[in-house]
Amino acid sequence: MNLLLLGAPGAGKGTQAKRLAEVLGLLHLSTGDLFRAHLSQGTPLGQTARRYMERGELVPDDVTLAMVFERLADPEGRAGFVLDGFPRNLAQAEAFAQRLAQSGQRLDLACYLRVADAVLVERLTGRRTCPQCQATYHLRYAPPREDERCDRCQVPLVQRPDDRPETVARRLAVYHAETAPLIAYYRAQGILREVDGEAPPEVVTERLLELVQEVGRTR
Ligand code: AMP
Repeated sequence: MNLLLLGAPGAGKGTQAKRLAEVLGLLHLSTGDLFRAHLSQGTPLGQTARRYMERGELVPDDVTLAMVFERLADPEGRAGFVLDGFPRNLAQAEAFAQRLAQSGQRLDLACYLRVADAVLVERLTGRRTCPQCQATYHLRYAPPREDERCDRCQVPLVQRPDDRPETVARRLAVYHAETAPLIAYYRAQGILREVDGEAPPEVVTERLLELVQEVGRTR
């Protein structure tokens, strides 16, 4: 089973992709997480990505595609994968489709997590992360027990640089211009399903699992 989660930054793709991958035994591939790992390890790829990420722009396609294809070749992905944050534009989607076809694979399902822009802004600007264990919090919806410190590690939480209000606005504009057209692209292929991304996270997970089952039955 190969699926991807589509939606704006802050729609819940990361949280849901992690859960689905765990429950279904699939490889979770998040391009944002991969870029952040390169960044914190100071690799050349990380240096390149930083310039774009800080501005809320997309990292160039050739860099992104090479990184994704390398990860997809990992034997961990044999049972299938859950993509999160990729593809981000039509060129990436086309290159990815070609690559899948070459290896005799296909995409089974594209789930679009629908969330209104005002909700996205609130979710992103309130998001905080533990720099040690990577646990995520939200100042309003999932606050830590003690003032902006991780419940587990007790270290001060940090804000992702690209979750600052000015960068969030740019990321949403890039999403609408470049990524949102993928909704129509996958709908035309008959593999798009829409989910209310404003529902509580457990409800979204349940709905996604139902969709995976439905698609699994008809494959
Ligand atoms: P995310 O964690 O998915 O919100 O991604 C954080 C940032 O990483 C984005 O704002 C982009 O700068 C970069 N990024 C993540 N995925 C992609 C992608 N598929 N193509 C280009 N840039 C990406």
